[in-house]
Amino acid sequence: MLIKDNFDEALKISESTNELLSHYQIPPSPVNYSVIYLYVSKRNEKLTAELDRHIQSYQEIDLTFIESLFEKYISNSHAIETQILAPIEKSLTSTLAKINEQVDSDKVVASNLKKAEKALSQHEYQKSMQNIVAFLMKSIATSQQQHNDLSLELTRACGEVSFLKSKLEAARHEAIIDSLTGLFNRRGCDTKLQALDIEQVHSSLAIDIDHFKNINDQFGHFIGDKVIQRIAKVIKATISEQDIAVRFGGEEFVVVMVNKTMTQAYEVAEKIRLAIAGLTLKQRDSKAYLPKISVSIGIAERQDELNWTALFEQADTALYQAKSNGRNKSVCL
Ligand code: GH3
Ligand code: MG
Ligand code: MG
Repeated sequence: MLIKDNFDEALKISESTNELLSHYQIPPSPVNYSVIYLYVSKRNEKLTAELDRHIQSYQEIDLTFIESLFEKYISNSHAIETQILAPIEKSLTSTLAKINEQVDSDKVVASNLKKAEKALSQHEYQKSMQNIVAFLMKSIATSQQQHNDLSLELTRACGEVSFLKSKLEAARHEAIIDSLTGLFNRRGCDTKLQALDIEQVHSSLAIDIDHFKNINDQFGHFIGDKVIQRIAKVIKATISEQDIAVRFGGEEFVVVMVNKTMTQAYEVAEKIRLAIAGLTLKQRDSKAYLPKISVSIGIAERQDELNWTALFEQADTALYQAKSNGRNKSVCL
C-alpha cells in the first residue's frame, strides 16, 4: 500500500482532506489529518467503511472516534512514514507556500490601498471614495490576519510532522541497535543479512568473553557492563565498515565478515583477540586494576547450501573447541 501518487493527485487528496476537515470543523492536527487523508484517498477500505458508517449514524465526526481509527489503522503501521507522514509533509509544505504567497500579495494590496487613501485624503470632495478605501483596507486587514493565523497553524503542523518523523527514526534505530554497546542486536543482524549478496563468500566469528562470570562476581554487574562495552569497542574498531558486528547475547558477540574467506576472517579474529588480551583495564573510582580479560573466538565460512543459522552454529562449534582447548584462542572449523 505504498503511495505512488504524483504531485497533482496528492494535492487533490489534500484539498479534499482540507474541505472535509473544515466541513466537519475538525482541527487539522497530524492525527486528524492523517485519518481524513487516508479516508479521502480510499487507500484503506476498512477505515473508509468505518468512517462512512460513523458519518451515516451521527452526521458528524467525533474526534475520539478519529483517534480510535488512528490507533487501529495507522499508529501500528510499519509504512506510517511513506503512507502518511511523507504525503502530509509534502502537501502541508505546498499549502504553506501558497498561503505565504497570499500573505505577500496581501501586503502589496494593503500598501497600494494605503497610497490611494493618502492621495484621496488630499481632496475633500472625494470623501465617499475615501470611505470605500477605508472599508477595503479593513477587509484586507481581516484577510491578512486570517492568512497569518493559517500560516502559523501550518508551520506548527509542519513542525509536528518533523517531530513525528524524528521519533519514528529514533524508534527504528532503537529496534535494531543494542543500547549497551551500540552494536546491532539480533533483529538488526537479520535486517543487515537480508541485504547481503549470497553469491559472495561470507564468514562469521562467534566471540565469547572468557570466565566473564568472575568479573561480575568480583566487581559487580556495573563493571561487567563496562567490560562488555569496552570489548564491543575493540571489535568495532578492528573490523571493516562493511562487516556486521552484533551483540548476540549477554557476553557473546557475532561478527559477519562480509565477502571474506575463513582465512581472512581468522586474521581479523586474531587481531581482535590480541587487542583484547592486551587491554589494561582500570576501575575509575577505586583505581584498582581489573584482571586480564580474554576472549575465545570460533570461525566458520558460509558454504553454498548453508543458511545463516547454520553458519552461526558452525562458528559456535568452533568457539566451543576454542574454550575446551584452553580459551584465549581463535579456532577455525
Ligand atoms: P566461559 O569462559 O566458559 O565463557 O565462562 P563465563 O563465566 O564467561 O560463562 P558463563 O556462561 O558461565 O557466564 C556468563 C556470565 O555473563 C553470566 C552472566 O551473569 C553474565 N552476563 C550475561 N549478560 C550480561 C550482561 O549484560 N551484563 C553483565 N554484567 N553480565 C552479563
Ligand atoms: Mg557465554
Ligand atoms: Mg563467557
